[in-house]
Amino acid sequence: MKRIVLASNNPGKLREFAQMLAPIGIEVLPQAQFCVPEAEEPHITFVENALAKARHAARLTGLPALADDSGICVAALGGAPGVFSARYAGEPKSDERNNQKLVAELAGKTDRRAHYVAVLVFVRHAEDPQPIICEGEWHGEIIDTPRGSGGFGYDPYFLVPELQRTAAELSAEEKNARSHRGKALRQLVERLKLDT
Ligand code: IMP
Repeated sequence: MKRIVLASNNPGKLREFAQMLAPIGIEVLPQAQFCVPEAEEPHITFVENALAKARHAARLTGLPALADDSGICVAALGGAPGVFSARYAGEPKSDERNNQKLVAELAGKTDRRAHYVAVLVFVRHAEDPQPIICEGEWHGEIIDTPRGSGGFGYDPYFLVPELQRTAAELSAEEKNARSHRGKALRQLVERLKLDT
């Protein structure tokens, strides 16, 4: 097995990435195992933040590293909250306050379009001049009244138009088949298969 480090300590992400990459001979280890502290995310784009996290983990471990950055972009808000999705309503981060703020910002607006974005960056080493970058999007609409108890974050307010269900009303398998992260991850698997 080829070992890589995941620049995240989120157990859900670790499980998802580990499951997808094990069949192609890649073992995913959390950065906490190497005492890597969380990297700064000072940038205003997903790709820059993911790249910074991946480089940081690769530099401190000497291993290839994978990082992700994700969020939701709302058309009527010029793409906000974007990279600030986790902390849209400030610190400490709270899904409930983020969702309340989102609904309040959209009050009276008819354009409800929003999309989730996930960017994955893989670096073979800290100075890799050609990182593998994969991006997935998932398009939907923001509703005012939450529905469903699955998922996390903005999912109860994110309506999938073709299903007329929110992301929080989908099973994990249904969400993964459509989601921004699922799409990016499937692309990554294909890219890594080509990488020796
Ligand atoms: P991060 O990529 O772990 O920094 O997460 C960014 C933030 O985007 C999360 O805290 C959520 O607020 C939001 N987000 C990203 N992906 C999803 C999703 O699949 N469902 C709901 N919210 C999400």
